[in-house]
Amino acid sequence: MRLTVLGKSPSWEDAGGACSGYLLESDGRAVVIDCGNGAFSKLRRFRDYTRVDAVLVSHLHADHFLDLIPWAYALTYAPRQQPVPVDRWGGTARPARPRLIAPSGATEAFRRITGAWGPEDLIERAFALEEYEESSTPEVGSLRFRFRSVPHFARTFACRVTSGEDGATLVFGADSGPNEHLVEIAEGADLLIAEATLPRPEREGPRGHLTASEAGEHAARAKARRLVLTHISDELDALSAHKAAAASFDGPVAVAREGATFHV
Ligand SMILES: [Zn+2]
Ligand SMILES: [Zn+2]
Repeated sequence: MRLTVLGKSPSWEDAGGACSGYLLESDGRAVVIDCGNGAFSKLRRFRDYTRVDAVLVSHLHADHFLDLIPWAYALTYAPRQQPVPVDRWGGTARPARPRLIAPSGATEAFRRITGAWGPEDLIERAFALEEYEESSTPEVGSLRFRFRSVPHFARTFACRVTSGEDGATLVFGADSGPNEHLVEIAEGADLLIAEATLPRPEREGPRGHLTASEAGEHAARAKARRLVLTHISDELDALSAHKAAAASFDGPVAVAREGATFHV
């Protein structure tokens, strides 16, 4: 499996950056995990958006799904998706319609959002939308996915991807406060991508995010092999985050950067 970081910003983009988005490629297949604001533009640098098999959304926060909207417009209106020749594009009888694997309730949420100005069914017409539950186990080619709910400010799922080719495992922790579910789903993972949004824990209210040090602790408890810190603003010091995570986790640590590729 090869993972390319499309966007790693938290809920506002870094300068020139994008919010949550990761391109996972394996054996000719491609899955985009999360598609936050800015991620569609970054995807176009690395992969033809009509050659993506599935998009998987961890939770319905804007920074994790908002670019499904421009992607849906592209799938609907791009010249190459039309049945007749347009400009240099020859026309197609089989326009791309990637799978969209999103938490239950997503269909209704997407209808409310795009219905605010236009067609309610924009997203479900452009993508083959399937809702998942915690117990769902979707497959894309030889990639097998499973989910675990994690505590956040909306219903949120961490996901574990296992390659049917070589058994390599990658875990995406999504957004979460400290919790045991993340440790369970990340157990023995070859690569854990964990959020490190906070420079210090939230001062009040329920926990919904992790510090870099906490991300390292979760990776250590899960006995993950490698840790990538993400969902971290360019307004924080990446070196400090790296040091804090490395103090609690013995394995290799990296801070996600847009365009960075990890082989799992
Ligand atoms: Zn987020
Ligand atoms: Zn979130």
